[in-house]
Amino acid sequence: MLKVDNLKAKVEEKDILKGLSLEINPGEVHAIMGPNGAGKSTLGYVLSGKDGYEVTEGGATLNGEDLLDMEIEDRARAGLFLAFQYPVEIPGVSNLEFMKAAVDSVRESRGEEALSSADFLKAAKAACKQVNLPLEFLKRGVNEGFSGGEKKRNEIMQMILLQPTLCILDESDSGLDIDALKVVAEGVNSQRDDKRSFVVVTHYQRLLDYIKPDFVHVLSDGKIVKSGDASLAHELEAEGYAWLETYDRNAE
Ligand code: ADP
Ligand code: MG
Ligand code: MG
Repeated sequence: MLKVDNLKAKVEEKDILKGLSLEINPGEVHAIMGPNGAGKSTLGYVLSGKDGYEVTEGGATLNGEDLLDMEIEDRARAGLFLAFQYPVEIPGVSNLEFMKAAVDSVRESRGEEALSSADFLKAAKAACKQVNLPLEFLKRGVNEGFSGGEKKRNEIMQMILLQPTLCILDESDSGLDIDALKVVAEGVNSQRDDKRSFVVVTHYQRLLDYIKPDFVHVLSDGKIVKSGDASLAHELEAEGYAWLETYDRNAE
């Protein structure tokens, strides 16, 4: 589904991704862990097409299509979804309007009919309940004045409504109390199936107790330096990242 090949990218003339490769098949959940500043968010931004990120080498395909060649909207239409580490506020645009426009656009690109307002409202209310946000959040400006935890739940609500095929969750657990963490994890788990894939960026093994990953990768200094199964997350929790300083991945 997603194939990232020797991806190199820079921001403001600074090399951040330094030859990152990653392959994700339909239905798989991949966790990405790694120290602060390793390039985890940058990976999500480059894949989703955020301005200011320049790809200097390598590439990425989504379902065989050149992802990096597509406009941002087309990446979303092709099934890519990024839940932001720091969700942006869009004052004055209601959550409901915003999501209706996004869902309409994605459905159109799939050749599906637009949902009626009533059907969309029904789906939106169900998603809102699923992430434990009061229904009034549908009427509020997108993320406007939301707490950190409410923003993260709102991202998961968007994901549930958009039904993407590849979901990248950037620290969707950061700053959450245990109940909110479970809500986020349950939202993700409810969307898991044999066609949909997830990239879960997290600092904490704890999230992975609830979202069981098929693979865990360590991203350090712009590259994936180690991959393993869920047990790798436990090792990292116990050992931290200091070993990266002296780690030679060619030696294994
Ligand atoms: P992570 O998510 O792994 O903590 P990021 O991808 O956010 O790391 O950042 C990787 C590195 O890129 C950091 O050193 C960060 O300071 C730098 N960086 C990110 N965005 C910019 C920017 N717009 N200008 C300059 N440096 C940036
Ligand atoms: Mg970080
Ligand atoms: Mg980050």
